[in-house]
Amino acid sequence: MGAAIVWFRRDLRLADHAALNAALAYSERVVPLYVHAPDEEAPWAPGAASRWWLHHSLAALEAALAARGATLVLRSGPSLDALLEVAAASGATRIYWNRGYEPAVVARDTRLKAALREHGLGAESLPGNLLFEPWTVQSGAGEPYRVFTPFWRACQPRLGTLAPPTPVPTAIPPAAGAPASLPLAALGLLPRLRWDRGLATAWTPGEAGATARLAAFAAAGLAGYADDRNRPDLAGCSRLSPHLHFGEISPRRLLAGIRQASPADPGNGLAAGAEAFVRQLMWRDFAHHVLYHFPHTAGQPLDARFADFAWREDPAALAAWQHGATGIPLVDAGMRELWHSGYMHNRVRMLVASLLTKNLGIDWRHGARWFHDTLVDADLANNTLGWQWTAGCGADAAPYYRVFNATLQAERFDPRRDYLRRWLPELRRLPDEWLHRPFAAPAAVLAAAGVALGRGYPHPIVDLRLSRERALTAWRQARAAR
Ligand code: FAD
Repeated sequence: MGAAIVWFRRDLRLADHAALNAALAYSERVVPLYVHAPDEEAPWAPGAASRWWLHHSLAALEAALAARGATLVLRSGPSLDALLEVAAASGATRIYWNRGYEPAVVARDTRLKAALREHGLGAESLPGNLLFEPWTVQSGAGEPYRVFTPFWRACQPRLGTLAPPTPVPTAIPPAAGAPASLPLAALGLLPRLRWDRGLATAWTPGEAGATARLAAFAAAGLAGYADDRNRPDLAGCSRLSPHLHFGEISPRRLLAGIRQASPADPGNGLAAGAEAFVRQLMWRDFAHHVLYHFPHTAGQPLDARFADFAWREDPAALAAWQHGATGIPLVDAGMRELWHSGYMHNRVRMLVASLLTKNLGIDWRHGARWFHDTLVDADLANNTLGWQWTAGCGADAAPYYRVFNATLQAERFDPRRDYLRRWLPELRRLPDEWLHRPFAAPAAVLAAAGVALGRGYPHPIVDLRLSRERALTAWRQARAAR
């Protein structure tokens, strides 16, 4: 019997890894392989922050495999060439991988599976990166879902039927003759200009980092999650999104961990925090469900009425938004958090997206692209859904007229202005009453706090009230045109 290749992709873990388990069941000799082929994910190849994460996650996987006796083989693409070369060198006869769901990946994998079989190799793709495969969830009419709540209702009863996650294999016997790996540095994933220090202090990529993050959240955040998840000033969320994106923890293992940390009350289901968390985790499955069934939505709105929407071109406003210089504190704090740490709190993501698409009238695709390049959790399915939801042109869209109000959002979700003070040190001395709206503060208050609008911190680049009216008019016109 030949060796088996495990083709690692967005599943950089050893626990609950269907492809690894299948390879070990097939052969006593296993070759773990990662192929760097960003062109094959075009136009959504990993951005700069994602590449940083990938570098460190691959280093962690390499070490975890080495501790179990195996060597990760790194290659540059094209994927098919690398798979054939490594199969020939190691005498592998079968290749296993866990599925991806993005349009370019689905198309590539379909082509590749046929080509591998033509070369006489076994090729098998397996589930494991979602809780439910997108084609297994259907409405009563046999259609895919476009709205979250019925999707959630359809999935909820199935959660209890999921098989338990599988453990990390104790040993992974290496295949004799496996080819030497490229050095990780040869993949060129790290930035040449070292802008990544903020990321390094905020994150620990890799399966061990994911496990530690889950343990910390289960101990400190889970019980209060239902209330605190909307508060950017608190550590109320799991921050597991990049770990989930890179598959360092499977959603099934995460679900099991949450259940274990928050045992069900007999007859009452999960505690409120755990219930809210599982529901949120199912948004991830939903986003992948939508992207899988409507692959054009990565670039086009799901709601076709918005296909010809008259977005504004305003490069100066876009640049101010990107660099946290809009003069609207909660937006600027979020954009600076993103730039510094590769992350932004969900509530603030909604707000900055609302400002860009509604108040500034700028195409959601500009925002999605910036997020894609700067988020460590950049994920085509979640990002597309989040942007279209906020812009009002996607599945389950926020009604277009629901324009987030940055001032009220700060009052509700950052009551002591801790989040604003953290990211906007130049405003730190303003009293709470004015910190989230310095543009409305009396001159004496600004002077006493050492704030000079237009010099240190900018004047708002947009009038929130007028731009809201303009957004509503544009929306009415777009609807009337049909
Ligand atoms: P938690 O609140 O702890 O949630 C746990 C997990 O559930 C998350 O890690 C995530 O995998 C999933 N989840 C939670 N909320 C959502 C949601 N609304 N949609 C899909 N999955 C969700 N998420 C990404 O992972 N990548 C993105 O590129 C991304 N872009 C977004 C863009 C916009 C404009 C918006 C509004 C949201 C976006 N989200 C994205 C969704 C959400 O903001 C993040 O998943 C969440 O903030 C991650 O933090 P967390 O892990 O602490 O979340």
